[in-house]
Amino acid sequence: MIGDRSVIAFYDERMLGHEPNIEEPFLPGRLARRVKEILDGLDVKWSYPEHPGRVTAIRELIDAHPIPGLTFRSGKIATREQLSRVHTLSYLDDIYAMRGKNAWLDRDTTAVSAGSVEAAEVAAGTAIAAVEAVMAGEAESAFALVRPPGHHAEPVRARGFCLFNNVAVAAAHAQAALGCERVLIIDWDAHHANGTQDIFYSDPDVMLFDTHRASPFYPGSGHLEEVGAGSGEGTTINVPLPEGSGDIAMVKAFRDILVPAAKWFEPDLVLVSAGFDPHRLDLALNLSYDGFAAITEIVQEIVDEHCPGRLAMVLEGGYHLESLAKGVHTVLQILAGGDAPLPAEPGVDEVAEAAAFHLSAFTDD
Ligand SMILES: [Zn+2]
Repeated sequence: MIGDRSVIAFYDERMLGHEPNIEEPFLPGRLARRVKEILDGLDVKWSYPEHPGRVTAIRELIDAHPIPGLTFRSGKIATREQLSRVHTLSYLDDIYAMRGKNAWLDRDTTAVSAGSVEAAEVAAGTAIAAVEAVMAGEAESAFALVRPPGHHAEPVRARGFCLFNNVAVAAAHAQAALGCERVLIIDWDAHHANGTQDIFYSDPDVMLFDTHRASPFYPGSGHLEEVGAGSGEGTTINVPLPEGSGDIAMVKAFRDILVPAAKWFEPDLVLVSAGFDPHRLDLALNLSYDGFAAITEIVQEIVDEHCPGRLAMVLEGGYHLESLAKGVHTVLQILAGGDAPLPAEPGVDEVAEAAAFHLSAFTDD
């Protein structure tokens, strides 16, 4: 029942200070002119899709429809040392130098505004805070509602709206400071977690399970054959999905691949890179809210079996404000002890009813 389990949601207004605005002048020499040319060439007006309204929409929905068992807490800043476990020091210095400025960091849609560096530090630090809370037994699970997202950020490169790899920083912190030995990261965002994969590709103690829309969809990586390397061979699991994949495909991936993989790996901490762009309103894949509920329930079962109470989710993508907020709300209800309905292909039940209704017309008796 909803309310049977305690959940802490982490939310921090400092993350609203990341507000790249393409109308603002950007630092010269930092791709600005080229990016402007591309934007000017577009037929429709483009605005930065990863904006503060994403997390305020989530917060407003939860405040309007509170979830029993759920409490809120604010986040904290990640230190240079904590970030340096997954990013190089020279990369960190480059990012720190952007404090207070407007700049394009990368040709693939990553820009910063005056408050972005602090927002990114808080996003990574808040992912750490979520892990610390569950490791200290303060709740049965935690959800860090952070932005900018993190899973595209590589050790030396900001990419795809991401500056610091929040979930990777949290996993590395769990290993270095909290005594965790085997961390399972589940990434259900519609885009492949190229950054998270890169960081832990040869690490046998961090398993990445990643469902995503298949290449050439952004970022183009995440092929079936990318399974890890060196001593980490076998602990990267990619499940590329075709456009239109929905609840049934996703649940099958979780049941048939993730569950046995987790049994083999025996994690002592489970992290989820929770993106909500697989929802059908975001147009990349075709999940419904029931689909998110079902995969959350499977994740909760894995945690209950292998490492009870050690589950932290970290927000990644999701750009349609309605499905983002409702998706997070749905997942939080399951974490708080709610039951997930069995996902079904839309229309199948209705067709069965219609068949029963019509059938007598076509039989003799
Ligand atoms: Zn995404």
